[in-house]
Formats: sequence, C-alpha cells, structure tokens
Amino acid sequence: MEKLKKFVLQDNQIPTQWYNIQADMGVKPLPPLNPATKQPLRPEDLFPIFSEECSRQEFDQTNAWIDIPEEVVDMYRYYRATPLVRAYALEKALDTPAHIYFKNESTNPLGSHKINSALAQCYYCKHEGTTNVTTETGAGQWGAALSYAARVFGLEAAVYQVKISMEQKPYRSILMRTFGAQVTGSPSMSTRAGKDIITRDPMHTGSLGTAISEAIELATTTPHCKYTLGSVLNHVSLHQTVIGLEAEKQMEMAGEYPDTVIACFGGGSNFGGIAFPFMRHNIKDGAKTEYVAAEPSSCPKLTRGVFQYDFGDKAGYTPLLPMFTLGHGFKPANIHAGGLRYHGAGVIVSQLIKDGMMRAVDIPQLESFRAGLLFARTEGIVPAPESCHAIAATVREAVKCRENGRGKVILFNLSGHGLIDMTAYEQYLNGDLMDYSVSDDEIKNNVGNLPHIL
Ligand SMILES: *Cc1c(COP(=O)(O)O)cnc(C)c1O
Repeated sequence: MEKLKKFVLQDNQIPTQWYNIQADMGVKPLPPLNPATKQPLRPEDLFPIFSEECSRQEFDQTNAWIDIPEEVVDMYRYYRATPLVRAYALEKALDTPAHIYFKNESTNPLGSHKINSALAQCYYCKHEGTTNVTTETGAGQWGAALSYAARVFGLEAAVYQVKISMEQKPYRSILMRTFGAQVTGSPSMSTRAGKDIITRDPMHTGSLGTAISEAIELATTTPHCKYTLGSVLNHVSLHQTVIGLEAEKQMEMAGEYPDTVIACFGGGSNFGGIAFPFMRHNIKDGAKTEYVAAEPSSCPKLTRGVFQYDFGDKAGYTPLLPMFTLGHGFKPANIHAGGLRYHGAGVIVSQLIKDGMMRAVDIPQLESFRAGLLFARTEGIVPAPESCHAIAATVREAVKCRENGRGKVILFNLSGHGLIDMTAYEQYLNGDLMDYSVSDDEIKNNVGNLPHIL
C-alpha cells in the first residue's frame, strides 16, 4: 500500500471559526482580579489596554464558536492550511510501533505559530480605529509576527525587546525592522518605567517584565495605541485553535485519531491551539485522548509550581490571574528556548491541569536538543528550541510504546523552525550547553511572596 506522508487541506477547508473551550469546560476558570481591590475584572476594564474585541473574547464563557473575521481568514490563506505530516523516518529511528504525526506550524514566512494570533489582534485594532500597536518580545518570534501583521493592516508597531536578547540574537530585531517596526531595547529611556529601572540599575540587561511594563506604559499614554500579547491570555489560545481544527480534519484523512496530543509550553497558546479542539471530544463525546504539555526543567511551573493568583509581569502592573506559577519574581535560567522562559501558565490550562484533564512533563535542556537533532536528521526540519521540548516528550512516549510493545497514535505540534536559532545548535554541537535545575527552596521562596487569595 502506498504510504501517505503529508495531509493537505484545500483553501476552502480552512476553519472559519475559532473554538472557545471555555464554553464547554465543566469547571470554568476563575476571573482575573483587580490587584488593588481584589474584585473580578470585566471586559471594559481591559479596553484601555487591549482591543475591545480581544477583551470580550478573553472573558467569553458562553460562545463555543467565534467567527474568524473574513479579512483574517483571507490572510490565513497565505500560509494555511499547514501540513500534517506522518513522521515515518522518526518512527523508524526510534524503532517504535507508535504512529507519530506532527502539525507543521513552521511553514509560514515568520516561522512560528505566533502569526495566527498576531493577524487577529492587529485586525481588531485596525477595525476599532487604532493606529499604533505595541508589545514586548524576548527572543523575538512574537515581535517578528506582530511587526508583519501590523504592516498587513497598516498599523505602526513599536516593539520593546529584552536588551540582552537583542544583543545576543540580533537577527530577529533586524527582521522586525525589516517589516517596518520600531524596535527598542528594554529597559530604555523612552518611558518612565524604563527610566526608573535604568536610574536604579544602569547596567540592567532587561527582562520580559521590564519590556511589558514599557509597552503597557506606551499603550496607555499614547492616543490610538493598543497593547498586544503573544501568549498566556485566553484570546491568544483561542486564535491558535485553527491549528487543532485543521489537524482534526487531517487526522481524519489519515484514518486515525490521536491517543496522545503533545505540545511545548511557554504560556500555553500553541498547546491550547492544538489540544483544545480535540479535548472538546473528551468533554462531550467520551474520547479518551490524553494531553501532555512539555515545559523546560529550568522553568517548571506546571509540574512544580503552585495554583495561585499571581501577576503576569515582574513589576506587578497586570491583573492578578489564577494560574500555576513559580512566582512573578522567578528568574528562569538563560536556556535557548526563550519562548518557554515564563513564570506562569494560562488560566484555562491551569484549570484543566487542576481538574485532571491533562498533564505536564518537564524536559532538561540537553534532552530537548538531543531530540531536536534526531528530528532534524530524520525529518529534515530544524526545530525551534521551544519545539524540541515537544519532540523530546514525543520521543519519551514512543520509547514507552517500544518497551511495552503497544502501538498508539501520537500527534505533536511543531510550533516553529530553528533556522534563526543556529547559535543554540552550534553551542549544543560544541558541547557548550548544560542542564539547569531549580531547587525546591528557590520555588518556595518565590511563591511564598504571593498574595494568598485561593
Ligand atoms: C513563543 C513560542 C512558544 C511558546 O509559547 P506558547 O504560547 O506556550 O505556545 C513555543 N514555540 C515557539 C516556536 C514560540 O515562538
């Protein structure tokens, strides 16, 4: 029989609605709180910062299906549907009876899944009369996606990039500027928050915390300027469900259904994107698929954090979110998977973990690159350091299948390619990378300072 390797959808099979799992969850996520009053927030409270439509989507616990605006679907058509691929060569190398499929979100011009939400957020901003958007970025995948999406909808983009990342990984800031964005290393002298930080610590090399503070300040002090975020929030995961909705149709073409769905985990958007559409069949139709989030051992909020209200940023400017967290003061080690170096987890995933609907594994840095190399050498795609964590978790499952002699169907999300992260591979190949462990005390000290609300 002919082996089909790649499952491709036609243009008219691209999803026209996103799936909002909040509507179907048995236990709904708790509301975000105003940090001063500890009162639940309403969508209107977010209007000064985010686009109004994204603010409404954030709180929507009733509509399971949300129409994707036509102009966004038109832009999705440029690079969607993305391929679903059966990884025969990887299966063979692992000598596993498991069938391994991956959804390839690295094929768009920006190289990661982040574009799926960047286009939606910029569309809503434009539609509501916004002229400028701003955001923060670490390694730069989100900043690059936003810069391009802003250009598509005729918006000016200002990106605050963590200063140290900008110096260590110059290519993505050049990419952002190529798309016409204004890129500023954070902390900078262009905001009050930045000036305060530099005055206190002239050598500060920046963090996502400093960059978020500067971007929010710019959004709230500039007319017609909105802030955008690339992960963590519910509306971002909502936009990413195009991944899982396509994968569902493609698995049907392959004549299989996943027993295990795996994705790497930073704030949860690519995980939610591939997992939530399948999980609705666990909730509604008794499917028994299991879901695995793969986080780095150096930033283990899902496997070792606490479920508590915490801030989304270091400075404490954001609302309090009910989530698994290592504490907003936690400083993750400088691993190459920059997109996974975040102290907290999205509130939907946090609730799902609490309710036993999914589980998490933590992957040491060297194991992630070992898996990434195996994938590159078998499937010919260099995965992003973040995606390597999903591959490592997949390898673990496939090896279990080999050992117990029972096959199963594994689907993982390849969230991005690593072609702009080759220095990470160089360091791995030269033997210059290491594993980082986090002590129980370090975690206890950080979460000990959190407000005790739950
Ligand atoms: C940002 C990023 C991630 C992590 O973010 P999530 O919101 O958890 O998906 C993972 N992979 C890539 C390639 C990224 O750019």
